[in-house]
Amino acid sequence: MSKYLKKIVEHYCSICNGMTDMEIASHNDELDIYWLRCKVCHGATMIKNKNLEKLAIRKANNALINDHQVTDQVKEYEPAKTYEAGQLLYHPAFDDKGVVTELKPGSGDFDKIIVKFDHIGEKMLIHGAS
Ligand SMILES: [Zn+2]
Repeated sequence: MSKYLKKIVEHYCSICNGMTDMEIASHNDELDIYWLRCKVCHGATMIKNKNLEKLAIRKANNALINDHQVTDQVKEYEPAKTYEAGQLLYHPAFDDKGVVTELKPGSGDFDKIIVKFDHIGEKMLIHGAS
């Protein structure tokens, strides 16, 4: 139930009197509702879980995301970044999530990591590319 937390949705804000970006701030299990916090006025809005699921849910950087979500623990893979063993990654092109199992020294401008993905298995990726 908490997979949407910290994500962004566009929703009507009664304080701003218009559509605003709202952060999904908390979930109430008992009532199955989410509380949204307006990014503009920080006012709280309540939304039912089933209604939230119909909205396009975005990361803070506005990219649409799908079921394999980027969270505080799961970082979206970018070749320019560097990763450590044990880091959880989401790879947008593979649409799969995995864990860094091994660091390998590369040649020249970048190093390599071995990532064990949930669905597609192990892949070698570059990281720290300049
Ligand atoms: Zn507002």
